[in-house]
Amino acid sequence: MADLNNKRVISCAIVGAWPTRKDNPNLPLSPTEIADSAYEAWKAGAAVVHIHVRDKNGEPTIDFGVYKETIDAIRAHKDCDVCINITSSGILDGTDEDRIIPIQKLQPELASFDAGTMNWQHRSIFENHPRFLEKLGLALQEANVKPEIEIFDGGMVYNAKYYMKTGVLKAPCHFQLVLGAAGGLDNSVDNLVFLRNLVPEGCTWAGCGIGRGHMPIMMATIAMGGHLRVGLEDNVYYQKGVLAQSNAQLVARAKRLLEEAGLQAATPDEAREILGLTRKVF
Ligand code: ZN
Repeated sequence: MADLNNKRVISCAIVGAWPTRKDNPNLPLSPTEIADSAYEAWKAGAAVVHIHVRDKNGEPTIDFGVYKETIDAIRAHKDCDVCINITSSGILDGTDEDRIIPIQKLQPELASFDAGTMNWQHRSIFENHPRFLEKLGLALQEANVKPEIEIFDGGMVYNAKYYMKTGVLKAPCHFQLVLGAAGGLDNSVDNLVFLRNLVPEGCTWAGCGIGRGHMPIMMATIAMGGHLRVGLEDNVYYQKGVLAQSNAQLVARAKRLLEEAGLQAATPDEAREILGLTRKVF
């Protein structure tokens, strides 16, 4: 296998729960559209796709059937060995079980683990009760699914460290540092450095900035040795005033930036090795 020190994992967050077709008409919404967009993102260089799903009206849902249809449609692309990451936070008021069951049943390689509760976009509460996080962490261990520990604020890293100590999370962990979500830390390189310095020794990390922070945080992440996350969930624009055409377009730019910096986008198998994933391509 090639030298992994030179490789960075590009993860693509395909649609998320919040953007709408009013924000960007190119947003994939149906299971087939999301799967096709994931497939194109993989072809463009993404090693991981982070999946939320939407109902028939384009609203966020955690309906198991919709998850299954979407994941099956990604896996139906037989040449595609992309690592699948399913969100555990598809809607704001799901029960603990509804949030965990799709992950247990669909066996992705990664699932998000949002390490704390926060005010969300100045209009609601993004609740991740300690009871839920304990259940989720243990369920992921049992299912051999690697947690992608999403961090929006400094205290969340300390929550994760607590769970690493108590065995709810098993080291080495993978941290996704997300900047620029209203209610969490804003997009700034200082905040990225602050969070990265809290990540425990031996753990992997990725950085992403939402909206206007997308490019500066991506470039700082490359400079600091982190992995990347791009995608329409975080950023519906390609540049100021120009809507992104697709997830693949955002992935392709990240790949080019890596290559300009003398680095390479990791393949899915390289990402499995870097992040310590249990291979589950069927
Ligand atoms: Zn997400």
